[in-house]
Amino acid sequence: MKLSKYYMPTLREVPADAEIPSHQLMLRAGMIRSLSAGIYSYLPLGYRVIRKVEQIVREEMDRSGALEVLMPAMQVADIWKESGRWEEFGPLMVRFKDRNEREYCLGPTHEEVIADIVRDEVRSYKDLPFNLYQIQTKVRDEIRPRFGLMRAKEFIMKDAYTLDCDEDGLDKAYQNMYDAYVRVFERCGLDTRVVEADSGAMGGSGSHEFMVLADSGEDDLAFCSECDYAANVERAEAALEISSVSPAADNPADSSLAANVSAEASTVADGPAEVSAGNSDYSPAEATTSEAEIEKVHTPDATTIEDLVDMIEVSPGKMIKTMAYIADDQPVVALVRGDDQLNEVKFRNYLGAIELRPAHPDEFSEKFGSVAGFIGPVDLPENIRIVADRRIQELDKAVTGANEKDYHLVNVNPHRDIAKIEAFTELRTVQAGDPCPRCGGSLEIKSGIEVGHIFKLGTKYSSNMGATYLDENGKAQPIVMGSYGIGITRVAAAAVEQHHDDRGIVWPLPLAPFQIIILPLGNSDEVDWAAEELYKELQEAGLEVLLDDRDERAGVKFNDAELIGIPLRITIGSRSLENDEFEVQIRRTGKDFNIDRSSACSKIEKLLEEIE
Ligand code: ATP
Ligand code: MG
Repeated sequence: MKLSKYYMPTLREVPADAEIPSHQLMLRAGMIRSLSAGIYSYLPLGYRVIRKVEQIVREEMDRSGALEVLMPAMQVADIWKESGRWEEFGPLMVRFKDRNEREYCLGPTHEEVIADIVRDEVRSYKDLPFNLYQIQTKVRDEIRPRFGLMRAKEFIMKDAYTLDCDEDGLDKAYQNMYDAYVRVFERCGLDTRVVEADSGAMGGSGSHEFMVLADSGEDDLAFCSECDYAANVERAEAALEISSVSPAADNPADSSLAANVSAEASTVADGPAEVSAGNSDYSPAEATTSEAEIEKVHTPDATTIEDLVDMIEVSPGKMIKTMAYIADDQPVVALVRGDDQLNEVKFRNYLGAIELRPAHPDEFSEKFGSVAGFIGPVDLPENIRIVADRRIQELDKAVTGANEKDYHLVNVNPHRDIAKIEAFTELRTVQAGDPCPRCGGSLEIKSGIEVGHIFKLGTKYSSNMGATYLDENGKAQPIVMGSYGIGITRVAAAAVEQHHDDRGIVWPLPLAPFQIIILPLGNSDEVDWAAEELYKELQEAGLEVLLDDRDERAGVKFNDAELIGIPLRITIGSRSLENDEFEVQIRRTGKDFNIDRSSACSKIEKLLEEIE
């Protein structure tokens, strides 16, 4: 391809609204352009990268035995109502009506369509198992579309769906996809980690995410420094330091989770829900007396943990933080220790809520019979569900809000004083240094970008939608499903996050839009002619070559070549030509050297094999 005839609108300046390197560099390299927030066109250079990712994914899916299909982006509401997700998916789903008032959505995912495809056709166990996949545009009305291709409203996903007779079959299919994903990301030149994940809106029993470690990643991940435990913080648990505590209460909500359990949810601020403590008259010594009576103390203006720590000498670990939320229009309360953070995903999962949000300050009196900043779990109105983190169980003589402005309660014993705690369960967010739930080692927290996600769905969709088969005894059974996604466009962005420097993108060879760029420098017919000849020769050898035949200064050509991240650059100038040589530079290492003009093509082919 000749750059004189190409459309590659590079930018010298960093676009103002682009915060992370992949967004900045893909815009600057003329690879993508935004039509509006979160909606992108993939320009020629960018689309080549996306096609490369797609091709690797397609090859590995085919190799795993999956069959490619293409399903409609426009889906009827009826199937979503059958599965129960028309409501559950919430505002993330883009909905509209046709001229006859029939309801539709633009598919954010395709479990329902798959169940519909198979329900009338698959008859017996002999028709199973199989795996269908597609590479297709998905639409999600993300709360915060940002970071370019990383979190877009419209993006390309590979989604695969396995259909099996039973759990054993699903386990095998899941492992098969897991292995295929490992190969995909390896071939893309991405360093990924697999973590245990929350199943979120999908329901189901098991789930893993494939994560690219990067500072810009929106997911927090917990890794054990001693064993191979790795989990998304949405799901990660720490070992309890105390042994007397019974296991977490059963989760009643494992198949009816909220739709947008995702980065949005985990980045919502802790909200106005608040704290607890005593006042300046309060003596901490009293609080350690085992039979101590609950007592109301004056804590003027102390609405935060820090205020209370300053006002009375009680550590945050002795406070009960009372978090007021509205779950599907009902007031609910989560209790966590003052030194812990509530994990909203765990809370939502426990409740089985579709929508969960922090209560607004004006809802405290109206819905909780309390006051923002001074809410506490003792004597809350009857209708409020109270759920406590496991670590609340071990507390005694704790401090919490008195539901009255400028007052807190001290000497609170959760078992004695908070009659209505419906469960002590895992609600807190793990922190760096927490003990690993597997080996007791220390957990580390790192940021990551989710590029792939696999789920064991089980029979949620097939049961709701009547997708059954007849087993060997002629009995109807629901098909057991799995679903498996890779964010194709997000992979391209994640590759840039992992592979760039201060001059631009450094594409891993398998994703590079072109493998080689030839830069003829200076005004010389001889140079142009040599460049053209090499260009043709490399193309004939089946290589992907860009020839920068633009009438531009050398500096411009060098800058653009580095910005767009082509792995191998060949410079041809009058001087090197006199010696019958070309100059080669490897983008990743910056290493440059001369090669003989006569054997250039074979030498370049060899170099490409050596480049990662
Ligand atoms: P996230 O938690 O990042 O919102 P998700 O868990 O909702 O993602 P899945 O339903 O698991 O996403 O979708 C499969 C894959 O699609 C994800 O692993 C990710 O790579 C990609 N993906 C999801 N949402 C987006 C988006 N808004 N923009 C680009 N890629 C996305
Ligand atoms: Mg996911």
